[in-house]
Amino acid sequence: MSFDTDAVHAAREDLTALGAHVPPIDLSTTYPVGNVETGGASYENLATGGTPAAGDSLVYQRLWNPTVGRLEEALARLEGAEQAVAFGSGMAALSATLLAAVAAGKPHVVAVRPLYGGTDHILATGLLGTRVTWVEADGVAAAIEPDTGLVVVETPANPTLDLVDLTALVRQAGDVPVVVDNTFATPVLQRPLELGVTIVLHSATKFLGGHGDIMAGLVATNAEWAGRIRSIRALTGGLLHPMAAYQVHRGLQTLPVRVRAQQDNAQVVAHWLTKQDAVSQVFHPSIEGCDPQGLVGTQMSGAGSVLAFAVESYAVAAAVAQSCRLITHAVSLGGVDSLIQHPASLTHRPVAPEARPAASVLRLSVGLEDPADIVADLRQAFAAATAQDGPAGQGSQAGQDSHGASSRHLRELVDHS
Ligand SMILES: *Cc1c(COP(=O)(O)O)cnc(C)c1O
Repeated sequence: MSFDTDAVHAAREDLTALGAHVPPIDLSTTYPVGNVETGGASYENLATGGTPAAGDSLVYQRLWNPTVGRLEEALARLEGAEQAVAFGSGMAALSATLLAAVAAGKPHVVAVRPLYGGTDHILATGLLGTRVTWVEADGVAAAIEPDTGLVVVETPANPTLDLVDLTALVRQAGDVPVVVDNTFATPVLQRPLELGVTIVLHSATKFLGGHGDIMAGLVATNAEWAGRIRSIRALTGGLLHPMAAYQVHRGLQTLPVRVRAQQDNAQVVAHWLTKQDAVSQVFHPSIEGCDPQGLVGTQMSGAGSVLAFAVESYAVAAAVAQSCRLITHAVSLGGVDSLIQHPASLTHRPVAPEARPAASVLRLSVGLEDPADIVADLRQAFAAATAQDGPAGQGSQAGQDSHGASSRHLRELVDHS
């Protein structure tokens, strides 16, 4: 079946025989075990990362839930993985993956910056017992040590939209499994496992859910790693709630359509931004110079719908974000509505200063609105942020800053950031 058909039908094939049209939601926290011997064997299997065989007791929801299992089967299909494991958030999925490496006696992580702020933070703190070496994409091979358990990379990266050549990276990593955060691309645009990557990670809170109303995380990988990660999940308790699993599974049905339509809109917005005096740089793989290795069209089938752009200063960036009306000033991305945020203040706040995004940069997740309305909102936000005071304005009392904007206006906006 084609990808789009799988998105609609994966892990739903048994429904007609069940006499149902949409998946049932199983909310049981516990399950009858029946026979003590076989129940005990089921417990042993599930607690050590196994999957249930037909007729097995499911024992306890933290070990296995059929509604979550359906979502996992569907996402595995879309990523071309043997299995997937679902968590209550992207960070829970990442944490379980890191713990699986630590548990295997390989706590050293080679991490390619830039990464999502939370990923950077958890690696920088070593909270889970990992030890990190930060590298650029071409420095992976040199950073591998005998106890390196994982290479962690994000492409497109957050928030600069840098692209990393995964085939080259996998070659550098040698025997060390590569983890790719595929949150920005989704399997619609990029399937890292086909390039030799071992583990794909998702914040399903973003595109997979797609409507800003579910927190979820997913790992797609081979059966061996999935088993190890599931056993960590059983112990540490990061299971996704079955209601949320149902919603993410539903979200997958429209994923290809949403991703492509949002991408079309983002392309319009990105190109419009390149023509604005207020914008000094646009970061989106569709923009000339942003994809020097030519990975769009090869590794990725498209540029995606998250972009970033630089304005003149922090003050202007803050004022633009706060002046948007249609576009919500909020973190997160990948939903049907457009969101704008200031990474240095918010998502990338915990990142070390040398790796933190510039203070003049804003990130925009482009949604499904008419791109003309998105552009109009940005136009009025730029105007508000860089407004010269007219004859009727208060400029004479407020004073002008070096960018010609009302400094009092900007200060007020910045103070409330
Ligand atoms: C949001 C995000 C995460 C973290 O996921 P949560 O669901 O918020 O825990 C990880 N990676 C990327 C790229 C993200 O955007």
